[in-house]
Amino acid sequence: MLRFKNLGSGSTGNATVVEARDGGRPSRLLIDCGLGPRTLATRLGLAGLDMADIDAIFVTHEHSDHIGSACKIALRHRIPLWMSHGTHQAIGAPDLGDLLHIARDGQPVDLGALQFRPFTVPHDAREPLQLRLSDGAACLGVLTDLGHATPHVLQQLAGCRAMLLECNHDPDLLAASPYPYFLKRRVGGALGHLANPLAAGIATALAAQGLQQIVAAHLSRQNNRPELALAALSGAEGCGGLALGVADPVTGTDWIDV
Ligand SMILES: [Zn+2]
Ligand SMILES: [Zn+2]
Repeated sequence: MLRFKNLGSGSTGNATVVEARDGGRPSRLLIDCGLGPRTLATRLGLAGLDMADIDAIFVTHEHSDHIGSACKIALRHRIPLWMSHGTHQAIGAPDLGDLLHIARDGQPVDLGALQFRPFTVPHDAREPLQLRLSDGAACLGVLTDLGHATPHVLQQLAGCRAMLLECNHDPDLLAASPYPYFLKRRVGGALGHLANPLAAGIATALAAQGLQQIVAAHLSRQNNRPELALAALSGAEGCGGLALGVADPVTGTDWIDV
């Protein structure tokens, strides 16, 4: 059995718990740690968990809304911490001792009942990775912080039943926003963040390969609205039958079965 719960999504801080069970003890991965230790503890508590229930942390990249307090929490609670070599370099290569595990594109990792496979995405960080996760039966894709979908990204997510998928901005709202020009270019660029129509294109590609549900994530507060993201996804070709939801920036989601 595979399920996940987002604990917060967007520029104010990202964190998601993924849990797999095979009858015995559940295995849990915390993806990103962009919340302070106290906030994270509170939100884990709302999920019925505490830090002792987390078997490993995976940080997708060095931007502060993702790495946040990951190193501090890993050291304090002795939790293995996965990240790419580039991410580790980008944060100044802190000494994490034997807690540090280097993640690589396409290299699968076994965490008890949970398996995850990182893959490279186009984003303006040193070596950003996103994840495909499985309990051996169902697959979940976690895909935020990328400017566009490459063939590699789509290949890595083929066959996923559920997705946590970035729907960062509506292109018209971004164009009309008071953001300075350089920031509009960065956010809307090929190494920036996923616009609603590009997320819809990914949904169409994956719906043809078994995708059944999407939780829209990492929505910009200024440049998007939940109803715009949902309209883009539900209106995408081949996506009329998908179950759709939105991760709230602060409260995230309930537990969702994959
Ligand atoms: Zn982010
Ligand atoms: Zn980022």
